[in-house]
Formats: sequence, structure tokens, C-alpha cells
Amino acid sequence: MPADFQTDVLIIGAGITGLTLSYRLRQKSIACLLLEERKHVGGRLAHAKTRSACELGAEFIHGSHRAITALVKEANLEMDDYPMDGGEGRFFCIGERIYNQSSAFAKQVEHLYELLHTHRGYDVSVDQFARKVGVSEDGAGFFARARVARLEGASLADLSASSLQSAITNAGNADRNARIKGGFIKLINWLSPNCTLLLGTKVTRIFWSEDRVCVQTADGSRLTCAKLVLTVPLDILQASLQMFKPLLPHRSSKAISSLRMGVAAKIVIHVKRVSWINFSAFATDGPVEVWWNYRHDHGNALVGFTAGPGTAKFEKCSMAELSDQAITDIRRIGGQLSRSDIINVESVVWNRLGRMAYSYVPVHALGCRSILAEPIGDRIYIAGEATVPAGLAGTIAGAVESADRVAAAISRDFETRLSVFSE
Ligand SMILES: Cc1cc2nc3c(=O)[nH]c(=O)nc-3n(C[C@H](O)[C@H](O)[C@H](O)COP(=O)(O)OP(=O)(O)OC[C@H]3O[C@@H](n4cnc5c(N)ncnc54)[C@H](O)[C@@H]3O)c2cc1C
Repeated sequence: MPADFQTDVLIIGAGITGLTLSYRLRQKSIACLLLEERKHVGGRLAHAKTRSACELGAEFIHGSHRAITALVKEANLEMDDYPMDGGEGRFFCIGERIYNQSSAFAKQVEHLYELLHTHRGYDVSVDQFARKVGVSEDGAGFFARARVARLEGASLADLSASSLQSAITNAGNADRNARIKGGFIKLINWLSPNCTLLLGTKVTRIFWSEDRVCVQTADGSRLTCAKLVLTVPLDILQASLQMFKPLLPHRSSKAISSLRMGVAAKIVIHVKRVSWINFSAFATDGPVEVWWNYRHDHGNALVGFTAGPGTAKFEKCSMAELSDQAITDIRRIGGQLSRSDIINVESVVWNRLGRMAYSYVPVHALGCRSILAEPIGDRIYIAGEATVPAGLAGTIAGAVESADRVAAAISRDFETRLSVFSE
């Protein structure tokens, strides 16, 4: 790469945000180059090595938001609603006790999210809110708390009740979960050829002024652009604040530092055959907090997921211990699974710098996501799941929406400059 490489737009990070943004800019004939630290694209879209339809990162498209729905349609991909085949059994196993979804127990588990609509006044943590409204720490209260921690990937001790309330109010049809047929890899494979991409290229310094931005990579190369878009995950952004020369304005860096990244873990167990009822999910009191199953073109899988504080417990277990939990849990709900039924097991723990799960808003950090979404000096833009309003944050839908937002802003700006130039 020539040391004085120049382009209109540089995008850092080739996850779904960077890839979508690059595709959108190309549609508007704006030259852009995508820089990705890893040797592969996709970021937090991570498929299982042996069965690419199985996801070790993001799996579902929640709700039916315009930006992601439009992208999937343009890619001509099909989606399967989950649960498939009308399977809808939800179970909760605590000790020897099993509750199904029509039980009063299950309703209590879901009640915490409903109660959040009643939250008024000062922002408090979800933990404080739960105590105030009398949600217990055991029985159904245990699952209610674990469910929120899992869905938000957060510790309830600092998760903002006001932000969660606004997220659930704005989520819109979030109860619908769908999967891309064949997995997110299909979308990645469709987007990637449409991008000009440098893999294995880590950005280490960013020099910016009113006129331009210059990016330095780990091998010392320098690239200059009119606009720079950061799509790196929030934890990387937080750890990289010192790489900006000059430093970012206080308002932006404070907002970046105020948000939090959650943790999660996932396990995919490929099985030869299925002899269990068609459950949609069952929550447990073990290190794997929830299981669901997935029948794809090449076989069957049991998928386990834990997020928030429970991730530490998951991480301490070996694959054999987690598989044993699967066998015990399947038997608890009347199914059959033995070691000889298991073809292979893969798992990923998302709890390290550069491999965290998704962002959340801690108490007293309301409004920070919107600040992240503001362009900095008309030169630097931040996109990704952490930069979208309540409801979409932390999701693929949010990531894609943020890419559309930045693509629209950049193309508006270029059009304005061209029209001024031609007058
Ligand atoms: C276990 C798990 C389950 C999830 N489940 C769901 C789900 O079911 N539904 C849903 O909607 N969302 C889910 N999510 C969230 C979803 O994965 C993210 O919101 C989305 O993938 C974020 O995409 P992104 O492009 O913004 O960021 P990323 O995918 O993180 O991409 C950022 C890219 O930047 C690169 N990068 C970092 N630093 C540098 C640097 N210095 N130079 C160059 N490149 C750099 C990274 O390598 C990475 O490829 C889940 C996430 C996890 C971890």
C-alpha cells in the first residue's frame, strides 16, 4: 500500500456495520476503503467452524426493523421465524422443579420487563428498581433478574432502569425472532465482494483537523481521507481514546467512556439426532442459562447462551462439563441425549477486550448513545450498535441502521460540497 494513499472515506472495522456502510457508499459512487484488524470479516457475527449456519455470535434478527429488513431483502436472502415449526414450549428448571410457559411462575418471570414501564423519576439501577417493586432474588425472581441480565448482557447493579424502560418502549415488534436461512455468513458473503477491503490492518493512530483525517496503521502506513468512520466495538473505542491527535472533544470522549460493554458466552452442541420435545427455549439455574435448539440443512444443534454476570460461571466450566449439563437438562424435560449422540461442541466466551458482547447504558449515562452518533468536526463519524437510540442498541438491526445513518450523512455532505463547487 502506498504511504500516501488517499480516498474519500475510510471505514475502520469490517463487522456488519462497516460492510453495510461500505456497500451503501458504493451505491452512491463514493470511494471508500475498509480497514479490518483481523484476517477475516464479520466481527461479532461468528459462525461455528463445522456448521456455518450455527452462530457463536449474533444469531437472531429481533423485530422487523426497516434497515435490516431492507438489507436482507436486497441480498435476496430468506429468513426463518423462530421458533420453527410452531414449537413454542418454554421451560424453566430450578433444582428438581420444572415450570412450563403457561404456569404462573413463567408469567412472573416475564413480569419484571412489564413492571419497568411503571418506572418514574430519577434513574436507578435495574437492581434497585427490582428491589423497590419487590422482585425476589430466588424462584421466579431469580429467573426474571437473570433474563434481563442475559438479554442486556449486563450487570443489573449498574444497568440503567430508565434506559431499559425507553428501550422496551421503542423496541417495536421485538418479540419476533428470525434467522437468516443458512446463517449470517450468507449476508457477510454477499456484502464482502462489494467492498474494497484491507484485512490484517490495525489502525493505531488517527490525526485529524478541519481539513482532513490521516490514519496510521500498525505497519506504519498512512492513509488520508476526507471522512473517517469508526465502527470498532465500544470497548475498543474506549481503549483507543489516546490514539486521536488531537484528542476527541470532551463531550464525545466522556460519552464514549460512560457507556459499558456487556459479556456473554455461547455453546453450540451438534447432535446426531433429536429426541426431545420441540421446545423453543428453556432457562436453567446452571452455568448455561438458556438452551434453544436449531435444525438446519446439515443437522441439529443445541445452542446454549449465558450473558451478564453468569458468564463468569460458564467460563470456569470445561466443554465436557457444559455438555454434561446439556445431557442432564434435556433429560429434565423428558428428552433423551447421551454423549454418543454428540458430534462436536464449540463455544466462545465474549468477555475480553475486542471480544465483548454488546453495549448497555449504565445509570446516569442517558443520552450518551445520541452523543456518539453526532459527527465530530464533520470529519469523524462513529457507527455501530452502541450509537443507536433505545430499542435497537446492541443489535444487528441497530448496527445496520447506524450504517445507513452515516451513509446518508456523508452522501448529503458530499452532494452539498459538489453543488457549492459547481455554482
Ligand atoms: C454472543 C453474542 C450474541 C449476540 N446475539 C445477537 C442477536 O441474536 N441479535 C442481534 O441483533 N445482535 C446480537 N448480538 C450483537 C451483534 O453481534 C452486534 O450488535 C453486531 O454484530 C455489531 O456489529 P459491528 O459491525 O457494529 O461491530 P463488530 O462486529 O464488533 O465489528 C467491528 C470490527 O472492527 C474491527 N476492529 C477493531 N479494532 C480495530 C482496529 N484498530 N483497526 C481495524 N479494525 C478493527 C474488529 O476486528 C471487528 O471486525 C450478539 C453479540 C454477541 C457477542
